[in-house]
Amino acid sequence: MLSGPAGVGKSSIVAYLREHHPDIWHSVSVTTRPRRPGEVEAVDRYFVDSETFARMVRDGELLEHAHYADNWYGTPRAAVEERLAAGTPVLLEIEVQGARQIRAQSPEARLVFLAPPSWEELERRLRGRGTEPEDVVRRRLDTARIELAAEDEFDEVIVNTSVAEAAERLVELMRAG
Ligand code: 5GP
Repeated sequence: MLSGPAGVGKSSIVAYLREHHPDIWHSVSVTTRPRRPGEVEAVDRYFVDSETFARMVRDGELLEHAHYADNWYGTPRAAVEERLAAGTPVLLEIEVQGARQIRAQSPEARLVFLAPPSWEELERRLRGRGTEPEDVVRRRLDTARIELAAEDEFDEVIVNTSVAEAAERLVELMRAG
């Protein structure tokens, strides 16, 4: 499972793997966040309203879930269990609270933390995303600082100096079991 702070490049790694390692199955998360331009329902995310999300939690349909940046995110349980039963390599790309829930219920899961080359680089990436007001950027940086502090809880750390190198290292770790 791949985790790490916002802005570190987790989704670029997932995009690389989709293209270069299609045998690795990537879980599609359920979220209450609005769809971004270019995102495709059921490919990038399942977009649901808060009531549907709450019902899925209640019915035990999610393997883990977390509230992150004003929205809910969760991993559909059935699809992951089917793939694991079939022996397919499964990748979850989730934030740190979700990673902790997976750790607690599946000690055999491998937790990989994607770290930025430096704090300055992460700050540059988080600021570079748009023209958000300073208080929004500040909140994002505060969250990133908290997320970075979780690094020690993970089995492996990959520093994201290049997408291809980091993704290939992740594949090696997954293949090693
Ligand atoms: P985004 O809004 O960019 O889709 O995701 C925001 C954050 O939520 C990212 O750090 C991403 O890794 C995380 N995330 C995406 N899907 C899930 C999920 O199913 N569960 C959890 N816990 N986090 C997720």
